[in-house]
Amino acid sequence: MEQVLNGSENTLPQKPIIEFRGVSKTYPSGTHALEDVNVKIQEGEFVFVVGSSGAGKSTFMKLIMREEKANTGKIVVNGFNLIKMSRKTVPHLRRTMGIVFQDYQLLGDRNVFYNLYDVMKATEWKSDQQIRHRISEVLTLVGLDNKAYKMPFELSGGEQQRVAIARALLNKPQIILADEPTGNLD
Ligand code: ADP
Repeated sequence: MEQVLNGSENTLPQKPIIEFRGVSKTYPSGTHALEDVNVKIQEGEFVFVVGSSGAGKSTFMKLIMREEKANTGKIVVNGFNLIKMSRKTVPHLRRTMGIVFQDYQLLGDRNVFYNLYDVMKATEWKSDQQIRHRISEVLTLVGLDNKAYKMPFELSGGEQQRVAIARALLNKPQIILADEPTGNLD
């Protein structure tokens, strides 16, 4: 796995927003997906993880979102110690991140607006007016403000992917995690 980082050497030392120290992950099948991974990612950094199929990229992401647990090492994400974290804390961690899934995971039975609205209703947003305003903002950001009332099946693959990106931005997360988020974009 290769890491590409942007950043100035002159910036003051910061607390990393994501830190892996000596992290290894072996699946119960015996596959060693990651071995001794050491990574520090600072706030504001834009990082690509590249590597051939099977290199462990998805496993790396799953460890960050605590969908998988590491066998050894230390992982800290947004101040959460993922090794010591109890399962009931996982939703708190997830609220600090926006996740763009490779297969979009839009709900097919409701339009774009309700795909976003229902996510916001499920988090701490209460004011309907603020919710509508934020939905309009994120749809404008991804160039889909005129498609709010389309059903997912009426959208192209690239448009569905942009809805998934808009959904990840809704709560202004500290971390955006994306698994091949531009695969279907122009
Ligand atoms: P990438 O995303 O870079 O293609 P993955 O992280 O998906 O790589 O996979 C890394 C290795 O771990 C591969 O050998 C894969 O077969 C294995 N692997 C991934 N997920 C699982 C799983 N749930 N159970 C067992 N082995 C897995």
